Amino acid sequence: KLYNQLQDLKGNIRVYCRVRPFLGGQSTRLASVVDNIDEGSISIITPSKYGKDGRKSFTFNKVFRPSATQAEVFSDTQPLIRSVLDGYNVCIFAYGQTGTGKTYTMTGPNELTEEGLGVNYRALSDLFLLSKQRKDTICYEIAVQMLEIYNEQVRDLLVTDGGLNKRYPIEQPKIRNSSSNGINVPDANLVPVSSTSDVINLMNLGHKNRAVGATAMNDRSSRSHSCLTVHVQGRDLTSGTIIHGSMHLVDLAGSERVDKSEVTGDRLKEAVHINKSLSALGDVIASLAQKSPHVPYRNSKLTQLLQDSLGGQAKTLMFVHISPEPEALAETLSTLKFAERVA
Ligand code: ADP
Ligand code: MG
Repeated sequence: KLYNQLQDLKGNIRVYCRVRPFLGGQSTRLASVVDNIDEGSISIITPSKYGKDGRKSFTFNKVFRPSATQAEVFSDTQPLIRSVLDGYNVCIFAYGQTGTGKTYTMTGPNELTEEGLGVNYRALSDLFLLSKQRKDTICYEIAVQMLEIYNEQVRDLLVTDGGLNKRYPIEQPKIRNSSSNGINVPDANLVPVSSTSDVINLMNLGHKNRAVGATAMNDRSSRSHSCLTVHVQGRDLTSGTIIHGSMHLVDLAGSERVDKSEVTGDRLKEAVHINKSLSALGDVIASLAQKSPHVPYRNSKLTQLLQDSLGGQAKTLMFVHISPEPEALAETLSTLKFAERVA
């Protein structure tokens, strides 16, 4: 309650920056482009063309060091989870260049361990735990959908029957906005869940389905957005009042700029679509942050899909990911600029 009131005063958009550690076998921290990290700011070492003295600082609600654990990252996300049960709509995004740790934050490392579990698992297990704690006053039902947006087409990732290969990609689900129960892709599978293991099974199915659509040379996961949506319905046992809350957990397509003079065909098409939808998302969040009267939701499938969960009373959290490598500096600065614009 208190947190929600505080958030309402402070605005509903938060931006956290997470810096990936050097990966195994990489050089020491001496080579890092990160000069300094404080609680809420990060400064980057730049060639002089970018800043006066070779340092450029960016301010966010929170900055996570490379040493931050999954549990530490989640503990600052936890209050949002509680508000879903209070009937709020929440969007959590992972933004950044391919390889900076978006999937690590949302899902975890490839070899999943208990400590490695990402925001998606922790958020759902919290939802189950909190809803059980309230079971004497409110009866909750929780169901999930999992969608992919690739080249501005929405696909259902929770297709279960044996005809998967034939049915993938399935027909475009209808997107309907502002329905009373918040389910705006009514044609996509909506699967009731009651335990973390239900969720793990579904996420495995979703990841498998995503892989079926990808060709060997074409790692599609970095060029599509994936969205795990959790719908929560709560019935107050004394008054009978029904509340709806939702949470969208979005692993965005890689934000790296593709040199349009160097790619053609499918790669060019993908790049154009990604660019379009990420800038549409940036425009929507920036205009919400500036309290602008016009919010341009219509410019991409992603913002259309999330329209009733962005703005109004909804709460948005964007994790922006950067890597410490000097080779990635240009992308890192462009990521931080994008993030600063929406913060
Ligand atoms: P993205 O989804 O942005 O393309 P990944 O999440 O796949 O990036 O991360 C790229 C690699 O870096 C993976 O091998 C991942 O396990 C590793 N990695 C990312 N973030 C971290 C982290 N915070 N700690 C340790 N390893 C990480
Ligand atoms: Mg990824």
